[in-house]
Amino acid sequence: MRRPLIAGNWKMFKTNPDTSVFLAEFLPKLSDVPSGRDVLLCPPFLSIARAVGLAAGTPLCVGAQNVYPKENGAFTGEVSPLMLVDAGVKYCLVGHSERRAYFGEVDTFLNEKVRALLEVGITPIVCVGETLEQREAGQAESVVAEQVRAGLTGVAITSVVVAYEPVWAIGTGKTASAADAQQMHASIRTVLAALGEAELVRILYGGSVKADNIAELMAMPDIDGALVGGASLDPSSFYAICNYVEKG
Ligand code: PEP
Repeated sequence: MRRPLIAGNWKMFKTNPDTSVFLAEFLPKLSDVPSGRDVLLCPPFLSIARAVGLAAGTPLCVGAQNVYPKENGAFTGEVSPLMLVDAGVKYCLVGHSERRAYFGEVDTFLNEKVRALLEVGITPIVCVGETLEQREAGQAESVVAEQVRAGLTGVAITSVVVAYEPVWAIGTGKTASAADAQQMHASIRTVLAALGEAELVRILYGGSVKADNIAELMAMPDIDGALVGGASLDPSSFYAICNYVEKG
């Protein structure tokens, strides 16, 4: 019912030549990945056009890591939703924990981004997740529920993707166990059910996803894909994640 989505977030890595080298190795392998899965890469803004050009005619989708929620105007250094459409972008990350932590992005602003992206037909991937302190204080589910509700206020939820990324698991090598991730995904789906057709919404897991833990995560009923940081930078490891073997 929900097509798996494996998304790579390159963060602030890779120039245009690096992008070409990556895709020269990765794209030929993509034909081995089962066709029922969506594969997405989110390079830095300046490498998007190169990636879109090289991915043309292949199943690879290209996304952005950020957007500014205005049509145009005096917003020095920012990129608008229509500029992303123009570049060939299909998805855009919103509210990655690094944006929340280093750039002070809060849920109300993130909600503006979600709405602005939907207006131009780009699918937002809304990232949510608790810090270690919040988890240890027993607040993980309530924090995440509030991020989901606030980020998706007034939004047709079937047009978005949600990514659950516990902050303590991002780039640390610590992954939530498949059971813990499933529990949070089920809780997110319950929150979504109050907002619309939750069964149709893809919920990705992110946080140190690797080739050796993806199959176990994907075997969980509410885990519909992965948001992959570090392991998406290497074509072989990203391919191995995309081509995970489904558990019987
Ligand atoms: C991310 O950046 O969204 C992420 C999950 O990173 P990593 O896979 O490196 O933990």
